[in-house]
Amino acid sequence: MDFDKLQADVNMLLTRHFTKGRSGHKLKFTVVHYNAGDLTVEQCYNIWQSCEASAHYQVESGGRIGQLVNDSDTAWHARDWDANCESIGIEHANQGDSITDACLESGAHLLAAIHKYYGLGRPEWGVNVFPHSHFAATQCPGPLREGTTYHNRYMARAQQWYDAMEAGTEPGDAPTGETTQPSGEHSGQGFGGRYRCTVNYLRVRDAPGLSGTEVAHYSAGEAVTLDDWYKIADGYVWGRYTGYSGKVRYVAVGKATGKPEADDYLVRV
Ligand SMILES: [Zn+2]
Repeated sequence: MDFDKLQADVNMLLTRHFTKGRSGHKLKFTVVHYNAGDLTVEQCYNIWQSCEASAHYQVESGGRIGQLVNDSDTAWHARDWDANCESIGIEHANQGDSITDACLESGAHLLAAIHKYYGLGRPEWGVNVFPHSHFAATQCPGPLREGTTYHNRYMARAQQWYDAMEAGTEPGDAPTGETTQPSGEHSGQGFGGRYRCTVNYLRVRDAPGLSGTEVAHYSAGEAVTLDDWYKIADGYVWGRYTGYSGKVRYVAVGKATGKPEADDYLVRV
């Protein structure tokens, strides 16, 4: 694989089950998949002859990378049309609940290379890298889903590769993933303080993410004091405070764009 030029180890371009071009959409993010099997590039190619699906890249357990749909075309991988039009889909071979070191290394390097080549920004889960499960009801990406050691190693390594490629250097040793904080969590960066709600109905949840149960809400003009912790999940930045009940509560501060925006749901007072 030539990561600087995005030339795969092997090209087996499909002639069906993808859409030419991007239908007027702009490439914005990547989508991470797993095979639910230990497949080769050739096996993916054969499966996608009869199955109405495809992805741009397949990363094998041995680390070999194949390209099956050109980056400039729309692969059918997310089960969401807009997401397909705006993303590059990367499949990873898995061996049951595990992913080989070679697959993790090649996959993370490829992710970084795609983000650099197309100016998608430093790979950040839930911001410009999404799991297939973000767009459809699926177990995909299996062992690479958030909260696993494989996920932590994969994303940390992708960021190492991205930083190294941007700087024109080599990355340091791959992280073990064992000591990594839960992905997307940050603290102590001056995030805390008093905020005012700008929207009519802002859900307060018992967990950071869209799956958290609504336990209360804020109305426009109400104020809340967040602590210094925040987390990026489901495409939003989640702030945290401790309620009068003593329970920890979470609110979406705004879309995860990497900076405060005019249309954030909570703005600093
Ligand atoms: Zn998938």
